[in-house]
Amino acid sequence: MTAAYDVILVGAGPTGAVLAILLGQSGLRVLLTDRAPQIYPLPRAAHIDHETVRIFQQAGVADAIMATSRPAEQYDFLTADRQVLMRFLSHGSPSGWPASNMIHQPSVEAALRQRIADLANVDLRVSWELLDFHDAGAGVEARFRTVDGEQRVAARYLVGCDGAASLVRAHCGIGLEDLQFDEPWLVIDTMVQDPARLPNINLQICDPARPTTCVMMGAGRHRWEFMLKPDESPEVALGDGFIATLLAPWKVDGAVTLERKAVYRFHALVADAWRRGPVFLAGDAAHQMPPFAGQGLCSGVRDAANLAWKLAAVLRGEAGEGLLDTYETERRPHVKAIIDLALMMGRTVCILDPDAAAQRDAALLAQRSAAPPDVPGQGMAFPPVAGPCVLTGSPAAGEPFVQPWSGTRRWDDVAGDGAWLITADAVSSDEVSNDAVSAGPGLRVLPLDDGIPGDFAQPLQAWLARRGARAVLVRPDRYVFGTGAPEALIAAWRRALV
Ligand SMILES: Cc1cc2nc3c(=O)[nH]c(=O)nc-3n(C[C@H](O)[C@H](O)[C@H](O)COP(=O)(O)OP(=O)(O)OC[C@H]3O[C@@H](n4cnc5c(N)ncnc54)[C@H](O)[C@@H]3O)c2cc1C
Repeated sequence: MTAAYDVILVGAGPTGAVLAILLGQSGLRVLLTDRAPQIYPLPRAAHIDHETVRIFQQAGVADAIMATSRPAEQYDFLTADRQVLMRFLSHGSPSGWPASNMIHQPSVEAALRQRIADLANVDLRVSWELLDFHDAGAGVEARFRTVDGEQRVAARYLVGCDGAASLVRAHCGIGLEDLQFDEPWLVIDTMVQDPARLPNINLQICDPARPTTCVMMGAGRHRWEFMLKPDESPEVALGDGFIATLLAPWKVDGAVTLERKAVYRFHALVADAWRRGPVFLAGDAAHQMPPFAGQGLCSGVRDAANLAWKLAAVLRGEAGEGLLDTYETERRPHVKAIIDLALMMGRTVCILDPDAAAQRDAALLAQRSAAPPDVPGQGMAFPPVAGPCVLTGSPAAGEPFVQPWSGTRRWDDVAGDGAWLITADAVSSDEVSNDAVSAGPGLRVLPLDDGIPGDFAQPLQAWLARRGARAVLVRPDRYVFGTGAPEALIAAWRRALV
């Protein structure tokens, strides 16, 4: 039987789940499928950044997710004898959420699935495995294997959120650019009985005898990751005796119990193309990175936020198809910059040769002793979005917009979904009304001197003043489209959506 959806999402991991929620909240009809009967149970993401939490906020799940997470303010790379090679400190962030947050990925995914259950226009089908699909003229027709037999479904667009071994990517004949990283690691998650006996910061131990990661996770859990040597097979590494030997130096016997374990090869790969006509790739299907920056899941969630508003705008007739090409042109350089950071961290840690490790230590220790003292930052800084969907040249264009808080109230919740034109003062109806309507029903005009509570209006006025602008146009994914005069911003926004 053929059913018509606006979008089919293949894969209900974090990328597919967030995309389903954001599309569903836009009123679109979405089919979200996963071949697995349940959420993936093995160890994966332990960290999310503040921008990811802000997207979860937009998806209505931030509070549920933060209830099971805890902030991390320090991330140290240490020598074998515990001297500091690199230190990353964070305190606060532009979005108001903690810059770094430690999580348990299955708990995050459970919160996302609970939210999906609230959305009548999103159908989640588990134990639905994509077999193939074809371009059906005005869209895509996909074939699934299900417990009730084969199902065929049609939609205008299909997004492959189907993970590292993406069938959607393979079916489109899209290759992967290999950024040359391939290291085997054992990952161990534990339940914590005695937190006082565990480090309360995140650590990379750059010991050539055994490169080791020791990080916090969501409440009640702690993780270790151990790099495997060429002669250590996954079967040997997953043995209880092997794990006990690796944990022995941490003296955590009785403080933790093993919950789950897995061996992975960490890679750095980017798909050669992220779109083929009505078919897109997102998340691990489009890119994979070693976990040292804690950014794989975060990047997939950013893909979802970027693609969601563009698909919604095109499907509602508010923007032309060309807008969808900006998905890859905006996301690819951002992801590549993050992969570069993850590779720098990974190549620092994954050194087994003692001489090379000694050289690394000498170079980084000298660099650190010449550097100014560590100061807490506001999270990792990534390149701004560039291209036709930002007003290049205007101050702050392409940067994530700030989110002021008033107690527990957050600006994005007050301002609501869609794009915002935030103006320092009242704007006459001659200036914006007609243009605002034709720029799309999603554009809200928000004069800061008209009913916006002071706790929000003051920091936003100050933000505009620092950029010397009377107004800022913020895209639905909370990136700054541009700053300047209201009328000029609306005209440029309308041109960008054509
Ligand atoms: C050890 C480790 C540590 C990590 N740490 C971090 C971290 O700290 N922070 C971070 O941000 N990221 C981290 N990551 C990365 C993060 O886990 C992934 O980037 C994230 O899970 C990718 O989400 P996704 O939804 O794109 O893909 P997945 O989570 O892989 O989901 C893909 C889904 O597609 C389904 N599927 C596949 N094929 C089909 C098909 N043919 N039909 C239907 N369904 C299909 C699968 O069943 C699966 O549910 C880590 C990863 C590892 C391995």
